[in-house]
Amino acid sequence: MDFSDLGLSPEVLKAVDESGYQTPTPIQEKAIPYVLMGRDILGCAQTGTGKTASFTLPMIDILASGRARARMPRSLIIEPTRELAAQVSENFERYGKFNRLSMALLIGGSSFVDQEKALDRGVDVLIATPGRLLDLFERGKILLADVKVLVIDEADRMLDMGFIPDVERIVGLLPKIRQTLFFSATMPPEIRKLADAFLMNPKEISVSPPASTAETVSQSLVRVGPKDKRKALRALLSQDEVRSALIFCNRKRDVDLVNRSLKRHGFDVDCLHGDMVQSKRMETLEGFKNGVVKLLVCSDVAARGLDISDVSHVFNFDVPTHAEDYVHRIGRTGRAGRSGKAFTLVTPEENRSLAAIKRLIGKPIPEIELDGMEAAIVTTEPETEARGGGASDKSRSRRRSAKPSSARGRGRKTAEAAVAEAAATETPVEEAAAPKARSAKSARSKAAVEGESTSKPFGKDTPAFLLRPVKLAAG
Ligand code: AMP
Repeated sequence: MDFSDLGLSPEVLKAVDESGYQTPTPIQEKAIPYVLMGRDILGCAQTGTGKTASFTLPMIDILASGRARARMPRSLIIEPTRELAAQVSENFERYGKFNRLSMALLIGGSSFVDQEKALDRGVDVLIATPGRLLDLFERGKILLADVKVLVIDEADRMLDMGFIPDVERIVGLLPKIRQTLFFSATMPPEIRKLADAFLMNPKEISVSPPASTAETVSQSLVRVGPKDKRKALRALLSQDEVRSALIFCNRKRDVDLVNRSLKRHGFDVDCLHGDMVQSKRMETLEGFKNGVVKLLVCSDVAARGLDISDVSHVFNFDVPTHAEDYVHRIGRTGRAGRSGKAFTLVTPEENRSLAAIKRLIGKPIPEIELDGMEAAIVTTEPETEARGGGASDKSRSRRRSAKPSSARGRGRKTAEAAVAEAAATETPVEEAAAPKARSAKSARSKAAVEGESTSKPFGKDTPAFLLRPVKLAAG
């Protein structure tokens, strides 16, 4: 199938062509025609599948007719992290270059004044993290009554980061008649419940199972003693032909430590984690994307979903404690058909997390030995059910659903507790502290929506995108 079969406008097709894309990815094939029809979408897709274009391309056409009013955005995209929000805005800029849509990015760590000015001028597309959006709403700087298209991206990540009560509140502030596009890399029961509350008769689309790893990434394990990790990492960096690499640590303090250690050993390296100020995070990321710096030591939150093409290697300095993070981490390489390599350093203490990862991806990871280093003695720890950290899908959803989302909404953590929690784990501090005492409102009532479903959000004229011929993907 070609992009021209999907019903997109000549302007958008030209922008796609200039991006160098030959054919739509499966999620684009399956989602774009339905988004253009005005259907709600429930998309199970990871980053790296072309998911962002699957909603930005048709949204550009949907929003091409009509004008935004001051402080009343016409569409809203909610993202869990600032980096993802910034990335989506780059996508709108790239694909919308032949349209004249206005856009605002509301993320923590950036100036309120600039964001308010953009809102005052009226925006077609508003991309926001939940905390900053609610802050501006509470200050009366924004009205959500004109939102016609809502995108909730990376819903499972929002759940992990404790943002769901905020998302529920935001959705409660939106018009009931709207189009909702909901994406999540995994679909645990809590996420499905949310989707049921937010979506109306959605078209369900799933591309590549949630836990699959790309065939283009070769994966290896290196057994090491706890004190040998840095030495092993240096050996890997020197032995393999590393063009550019992401090095993941589980804790922020280790991100700093590994960064400093590699610098001391003469490597071209920088680091990225949630405690850095936004301007520095952006600067570091740009430096890495542009090849100014070759290695980036980072944490999961900072690196989640980052669209950095051409990363040749991913190194797991630590085995991730959430098994699904392994899939996200190694998915940073081997993108868009290129090949990539992923190495994971494993100490005997990390065997349980490793076992959970193997169960999740459903295949073994080959072990290699490093020249000049003794492989660590493998413990006899059975690679069965992991405690807490890496768990099977079933136990993970059990862990998440220990407290239903509405209950979490009422028992909100205090800002201080959130900051303390953010310090211990890897949640950006401003995002964690932002929610404060907001109550979680129930999502729109289905009955109410069904009663009004015949009204036309785009007025009486049929927009051009509805008149273009479309081919629908099978399935
Ligand atoms: P995403 O899943 O949205 O993070 O996209 C992953 C990467 O795929 C990004 O670098 C996109 O620029 C790229 N991409 C998106 N759509 C296509 C396509 N149809 N063909 C090739 N690359 C694409």
